[in-house]
Amino acid sequence: MNIAVVGTGYVGLVSGVCFAEMGNQVACVDIDSGKVDSLRDGRLTIYEPGLEVYFERGRREGRLTFTTDLASALEPADAVFLALPTPPGEGGAADLRYVLGVADDVGRLLAEAKADGEGWGYKVIVDKSTVPVGTADRVTAAIERHGLEAGTDFDVVSNPEFLREGAAVDDFMKPERVVVGTDSERAADVMRRLYEPFVRSGNPILVMDEKSAEMTKYAANAMLATKITFMNEVANLCERVGADVDKVRRGIGTDSRIGPKFLYAGIGFGGSCFPKDVQALHRTARENDYDFQILGAVLDVNDEQRRSMVPRVLEAAGTDGRLDGVRVGLWGLAFKPHTDDVRESPAHVIIRELVRLGADVHAFDPEAAGTTKETFEREPLEGDGTNSVGSLSYAESAYAAADGADVLVVATEWPEFRRPDLERVRASMTGGRSGDGAPLVFDGRNVFDPERMAEAGFTYHSVGRPHIAPAV
Ligand code: NAD
Repeated sequence: MNIAVVGTGYVGLVSGVCFAEMGNQVACVDIDSGKVDSLRDGRLTIYEPGLEVYFERGRREGRLTFTTDLASALEPADAVFLALPTPPGEGGAADLRYVLGVADDVGRLLAEAKADGEGWGYKVIVDKSTVPVGTADRVTAAIERHGLEAGTDFDVVSNPEFLREGAAVDDFMKPERVVVGTDSERAADVMRRLYEPFVRSGNPILVMDEKSAEMTKYAANAMLATKITFMNEVANLCERVGADVDKVRRGIGTDSRIGPKFLYAGIGFGGSCFPKDVQALHRTARENDYDFQILGAVLDVNDEQRRSMVPRVLEAAGTDGRLDGVRVGLWGLAFKPHTDDVRESPAHVIIRELVRLGADVHAFDPEAAGTTKETFEREPLEGDGTNSVGSLSYAESAYAAADGADVLVVATEWPEFRRPDLERVRASMTGGRSGDGAPLVFDGRNVFDPERMAEAGFTYHSVGRPHIAPAV
């Protein structure tokens, strides 16, 4: 089939590359000419495990092309995927300006081609972005405004994406389910033909109405964010009563009604999806005179959880509520491992707070230093206007970040942080800021074993697990 993907970010690029790998002819469109140039030259613009091999094959064999020209991609396409940003807008509602703007462009171009007498044939316009209930109708209206007719010239389908960054290629190539929202049998047929090669092992293609498909995506993300948040609250209580959240996790995760996934306590969720999607669903509920109370709690708890390490660092290493002169080694910048995506990253929330309080942060991430630099260039770190501001610098390795640090904070659970040479880390850090002379470690992702950390001579803090005095 011939496919256009509009928006070549995390979702659009992965979708385009994977559709091309399945033998389709794919044109990826983006307004960012720098991105298009880079992809044309064979340089990937995101880090995603496994993407490069398919990307190179698609380009080499001529099935995968990149352009800034929407018309050239639209003309031959059977299906046009809109993989555009839907950032939080006013009051947390999803900002649909990109999706509706491109829908308008698509309508105009199709209408012009029809008026010229050439006509580019029936198109399926696919909402791949995460969009609020009712968006398929709005996209349809934006195209029909140009004199085109839904059902004859085009149909709009909701096809939410469930891939996880860090495992996006696997998720796209072997989806647990494909959700297709449409009342049009013709459009559903196109979607089935497109997706059948991805579900050969028998996973379902679920065809439903547009609104239910749109709601499915938000409900899935809201449920996952709630599960994480619930466990974070259990952890917070474990700390207060002397229980160990790791043991509780195993105790409840073996219950098949609960399941073992998404039960890991930590410093909260981030990323480009959960925070904005929970907000958007909360907002949709309010617009429909419904107070979706649990979502409000999830957002508030997560906000606190992302900041929760900082008061603990202050208490252990600060002076008069400040961290001036305290050197903090920070492991992890991405919002989760295996990605360079730092949108809404808890690590960034921590860095902002530490630097505001005067700390000098020396950070390392295997992939996300570049995206972090870009973010803080756009939105600079700030002080409180009265005191001196700390600093942020970047280390070449995890060991270099810890070298000379008074405090080490683990913010992302990259595998390489799990089994470091603890003796080397301890020897390179200072113990001057803790009462017992043992270097301070704040593990926001529970990657270390508390007993082993105590034996290795650290004053170790984690989330929801008892503190064990260091062997110094
Ligand atoms: P992104 O910001 O990485 O990519 C969006 C791309 O669209 C950018 O490259 C941007 O330049 C381009 N763009 C903006 N306006 C354009 C225009 N007028 N024409 C052409 N291109 C344009 O976003 P993303 O993370 O890929 O997310 C896209 C959508 O998918 C969002 O709705 C998101 O919620 C949803 N989603 C994301 C994920 C994820 O893990 N990132 C997972 C599932 C769903």
